[in-house]
Amino acid sequence: MNKKTADVLVITPHPDDAEFGAAGTVVNLVRKGKEVVYIVCTDGSKGTDDINVIPEDLVKIREKEQREAAKTLGVKDVIFLGYEDQNINETPEFRKEIVRLIRTYRPELIISSDPYRRYIWHRDHRIVGRVVLDAVFPYARDVWAYPDLIQEDLQPHNVNEMWLWAPEDSDINFRSDITDTFDIKLKALRCHKSQIKESFSAEMEKWLCTRAKDLAEGEDFKLAEGFHRVEIWW
Ligand SMILES: [Zn+2]
Repeated sequence: MNKKTADVLVITPHPDDAEFGAAGTVVNLVRKGKEVVYIVCTDGSKGTDDINVIPEDLVKIREKEQREAAKTLGVKDVIFLGYEDQNINETPEFRKEIVRLIRTYRPELIISSDPYRRYIWHRDHRIVGRVVLDAVFPYARDVWAYPDLIQEDLQPHNVNEMWLWAPEDSDINFRSDITDTFDIKLKALRCHKSQIKESFSAEMEKWLCTRAKDLAEGEDFKLAEGFHRVEIWW
């Protein structure tokens, strides 16, 4: 019997996406006693506007930053799949890798990127979101999808829910209360020093606060993260 389990998998295209999209919600889940594991699909090697930064160095820096941010939030483990930033593809191998992780960790909830945000949306975000949706249904569920995984005792698994971050505003159907966890979200984001320049940090935090207030409009709490929630019918 496989002992590596998690209540929640956060499957993210780049190091830092999970903090922008879902960190406040992740802390809420951890506080409820849920075990959360991050899967970071790409290596983040293109995340710089400085031509003098060597991609291999950036990969190591970003891995360290992501581990620190995850630790700040109480995430149990971070797994880096190491696909090249801006060059991830919707391949059968990538889909199978996600299915393998779903069947290993057997989460009730997966948090990932909404692939259906329109027009200007990072290609990696579109691809990861799509592959995760396909992996959840039907590939993780169906016994004949991967007979070789069954041979390894990676049995079919049904995920109950998906929460997809950064949907179109009109697609937001779940607003998660992050009033008490917003400060920790900012603390985790500050770990991503290679991504958020110090000179821009205050401005960005102000923008994030305004956005969180806007997302909580009409709710009985002050700050929110917004998701497209998919409850699965099985
Ligand atoms: Zn990203």
